[in-house]
This record gives sequence, C-alpha cells and structure tokens, in this order.
Amino acid sequence: MELTGWVKNYDWGRNGIHSAVAQLAMANDPDFRLNEEESYAEMWMGTHICGVSVVKETGETLDRVLKKDLPYLFKVLSISKALSIQVHPNKCEAERLHKERPEIYKDPNHKPELAIALTPFVALVGFQPVEDIRDFIDEFQPLSKLIGKEAVDRLHLSPNSDTLKLCYEKLMKSEEADVAKCIKDIVKNHQKELKSNKLLEVFNKVNSDFPGDVGVLSLFFLNLVHLQPGQAIYLGANEIHAYLDGDCVECMACSDNVIRAGLTPKYKDVEQLISSVIFEGADAGRKLFLPYHIDDHVQVYVPPVDDFAVIHVAIKHTVDTYKLQIQPYGSILITLEGSRTLRLNTSAGPKEIVLTRGSIVYIPVEAAPEIEFAPAEDCGENFTSYIATYNYFRKA
Ligand SMILES: [Zn+2]
Repeated sequence: MELTGWVKNYDWGRNGIHSAVAQLAMANDPDFRLNEEESYAEMWMGTHICGVSVVKETGETLDRVLKKDLPYLFKVLSISKALSIQVHPNKCEAERLHKERPEIYKDPNHKPELAIALTPFVALVGFQPVEDIRDFIDEFQPLSKLIGKEAVDRLHLSPNSDTLKLCYEKLMKSEEADVAKCIKDIVKNHQKELKSNKLLEVFNKVNSDFPGDVGVLSLFFLNLVHLQPGQAIYLGANEIHAYLDGDCVECMACSDNVIRAGLTPKYKDVEQLISSVIFEGADAGRKLFLPYHIDDHVQVYVPPVDDFAVIHVAIKHTVDTYKLQIQPYGSILITLEGSRTLRLNTSAGPKEIVLTRGSIVYIPVEAAPEIEFAPAEDCGENFTSYIATYNYFRKA
C-alpha cells in the first residue's frame, strides 16, 4: 500500500522548498501545494491519532485499514530553529500524566526515540560529565552568580548527580529577568570564553531564536553533538535533549508525550522535568548510537525497547536485485533517493511498486519472509530507503 504522510507546520521547521519535509511531500503527492512562507517541520508516517497516514489508492486512513495501531511512529524532521529542551516520560509516568492532564499529555504511552541524521545535524543530548559542568560554571561567572553560591559550593565539594540536580534546578527555576540579565552579561563580557569553548556560534543562534530563554544556558550543562549523515542518537525515557539544526529521520514508540522546559513558546513543565530527568553526566562520545551491519547494503538500528527498529537500505545502482529478509510485522518504508522496483507479497497476491524519492509504502505482514528491490529502468542513481518496523531484532 502506498501512503501519504501527515505534514506538521511547527514554527521551528525549515521554510518552503528548503525543508526536506516539503521536498518529500511534493515528491510523494502531486496535490501537495508548497507555500514558500510556510515552515515544514515534520512528516508523520503511522497511525498516531494526531497525524494518521492516508492510503493513496482509497483515501482511507491507515489505522482503519489495519484495524489496529502500529507500535511505532516514523517521521522525517527538518529543523531550522531549536526544538524545546525536553524529556519523554516512561510508561508508568505517561499513564499518570495522561490521566491527570490529558490536555497536555495526550496519550498514555512512553516515547523512546531514535534520530538518524540525513544532513549534518546538531543536538543537545544528556548532561555533560559533572566536572565539565562545574568548570563551565566557574568560567562563566554570571552563570555561577545566577545559580547561587550555596549550590555552586556544594557542586565543588562533591561533583555528583545530587549536586548537578541542585544546580540545574536552581537554574531552571530562576526568575526570567535574572536569566535574561545573565545571558546579556555573557554576550557582552564572555565572547572570548564562548569562542574558546566552541560555543559562540550555537550560543548566538539559540539566543537569537529564543532571546533570554533559560534553555540558552542549558548549553553549559548538556552535551553538544554534531552528527554526520547516517550517525544516530537514541533517547531513552527521561534523557534530556533538544534538537538544534538539520534534517533527520526519527522513529519512536507511538506517542506524542513531551515534557518541555525551555526553548519553546509552548507550555513549560519545569517541576515535572526536574522530577523526571536522569541527572547523570557522560561524555558526548558515548551518546552516538551505532547500527549493526547486516551486509554491504543494509544496517539496522536496534534500540533497547520492543516498540521499533529502523532498517537502512542503501543499494548501489550497479547492484542487481537485492533481497531483504523481513519478519511478519507491518513495516513502513520511505525512499530518500534513487529508484527501485519493490516486489512483495500482499493478501491480494504478488505486487510491484516503483519506489522513487518521497515514496512511502506500508509493507504488510504477508510480505514476510522476503521483499525484493529490483533495478528500476534507466536509473543511474544509488538507492536509499529507511524502514521502520517492530523491533523483532531484539529477540534474534
Ligand atoms: Zn524528543
């Protein structure tokens, strides 16, 4: 079944044709009308109630056709402005939050997520080692002043999770005016220090997108990571993060639960963030999430949860038909470049679908154990697709 994704126009998305989301939507759907002024942030592929995919042939929604929800939600993101500083609750918290405040926490599910860079991609992921945070606080005196002598002294005495929590909580609960003053002071008097710590550019960008926002100062607490295309990060429950720039494919458990605490005009739930987030420092290098190589053409990102895994298929144009082994779970494929003829079994018999950039296909249970990618006519381009599926690799 060929699908059309659901496009979300959040204001942090890239504008018009500069957005990978808009480019893919245009390639997918001849009826898609591009507005150059509009931001195109996310494309959703799956059955989540806030953006269900539509079956192209019939116009029906995917959840109605399948008569069930998929355990995962698959997305493409195109980011020009920072997303909020956030964590996602675990299952137990999500159930409670949804029950207590359904208007903010819209479903009762957890939302572990995996982001795979399509372009150079910048994000904040987890806390830095506590000693590094301590050194930043010492180097940037306005920040030290904002957090307060008592908390900073305790951090010096024993740099650990408890004192990190104390300092971060002080920061996040500071008065808005004091935060804005601290940022102004750093901009005015600490350009040299920002530069020597390779933070100048990102600090100025985040501060120009969200002037005076407390999230700007999170740059001194969180790991700044630069991903190259194909590199990935995995965010488990309650791991603090914010995506800052670039395009990625993202897969997550089927949920939209976000606890936000900065870099956003949306509702900030600082109390909940502080009580949920894991206060554990670690090196940025440990945040990279590595895939398994199946062969020369396929690698698989296998997160430590059952809800989803992502298969990366990259077939050179010189390669003849490639056969991919799959298990009997419904999967969603999106093509990013090149062209191939997909051959697969469906409940209505064998089927061929020509895949080109922007093609989104639901691969049904009946397609197992094997689908084929045959060469498309006159295509001199290498072929790249990503497939989201249930995480059957975990059991293998
Ligand atoms: Zn997130």
